[in-house]
Amino acid sequence: MAPGRDPDPAAFRSLTTPIRRASTVVFDDLDSFEARASRLYDGYSYGLYGTPTSRALEERIAALEGGSRAIVLPSGLAAIALATLSVVRCGDRVLFPDSMYGPAKEFFGGLLERLGVEAIPYPPEIGEAIAERLDDRVRMLWMESPGSQTFEVQDVPAIARAAKARGIVSAADNTWASHLGFRPLDHGVDIAMQALSKHAGGHGDLVMGSLAVSDETLFRRLKDSARVLGYGVSADDCALCERGLMTMPLRLRHSWATARSLIAYLSSRPDVLRILHPSVPDHPGHAIWRRDHRGAAGVFGLLLPPADREAQRAGLAEMRTIKIGASWGGVHSLIAPGDPRRNRAPIPWLPEGIYWRLSIGLEDEADLRRDLAAALDAIRTRRRTTSKIAG
Ligand SMILES: *Cc1c(COP(=O)(O)O)cnc(C)c1O
Repeated sequence: MAPGRDPDPAAFRSLTTPIRRASTVVFDDLDSFEARASRLYDGYSYGLYGTPTSRALEERIAALEGGSRAIVLPSGLAAIALATLSVVRCGDRVLFPDSMYGPAKEFFGGLLERLGVEAIPYPPEIGEAIAERLDDRVRMLWMESPGSQTFEVQDVPAIARAAKARGIVSAADNTWASHLGFRPLDHGVDIAMQALSKHAGGHGDLVMGSLAVSDETLFRRLKDSARVLGYGVSADDCALCERGLMTMPLRLRHSWATARSLIAYLSSRPDVLRILHPSVPDHPGHAIWRRDHRGAAGVFGLLLPPADREAQRAGLAEMRTIKIGASWGGVHSLIAPGDPRRNRAPIPWLPEGIYWRLSIGLEDEADLRRDLAAALDAIRTRRRTTSKIAG
């Protein structure tokens, strides 16, 4: 069987990165085959370790993040796991904010603990006082700002400074803001992580994560670990992600504009207890967010007064345009009901109530507002009925 042909690559010039699939990469002779391991970081030795398509995406992400190197991974969670496993050794400690992405916390508390690494949560709004929690055993310090679900904003520059002063590797899950809103590497963080499944993919059909760094040694450690763990990303998925990145600035701007207007509407309703988004002036992280960020995601939390399960069900049943589902950051608006108090230390500032996380997509604002108004009305009606019966 003859190998695949690329008849005239110079004559076919499209605007997209070509999709180059491969497991096997072939070599001209004995010497180049035997030297293939030297091509792990650049060049090509085996499809799992890099294709022209994945390298192109990694170069683009490194540039967007303001770093020198990036690596793409099969998911955002894989990126968190890989970064951690590349840095820590048995006996080390990892610190992470209590507001961090739930499955990452499960990785820290489960697999990582079993490997003899102690994972310790800290209050996300700790700021420079994190220094008091750093000792010689702390090897890695994670941040996530704003936090998953509860949207606490962290003082990333201060926390990164404290880590650097002790030679601790710092990493930030920057999925909410993305490189468009905040670039962790510019603020002293060693590893900038993104779940590309969210804003970059943007259409609810891609799962991928990335890590960006500006230190070659750290990059090589990440790549070495990815190799022995067998992490790789298909060329097709990389091309899909590149396509997503091209429209990402416009999509984010639009979804934030719509979200801002919906937040204003929701704030005017007496049956909304609180909106969790750092743009809201009474949000505890508002000042830091304004200081550090250049934009916002249309993803926020909505806290409604306590009501029974039937009331919540009735509210969600009113959704026509907004779909019930996990994940966020895409063209489709999503709502995820959930209790942020689970798996957390007590959150004293968060009152009891119905909690929904909303991700605003690209649909017509009037349709989204209709859904939210109908849902709140349904809950209010149901609450009135039950309190009458109870009374
Ligand atoms: C979704 C998400 C992840 C994980 O990404 P996956 O690609 O779904 O594994 C990590 N961090 C944050 C903040 C996320 O929202």
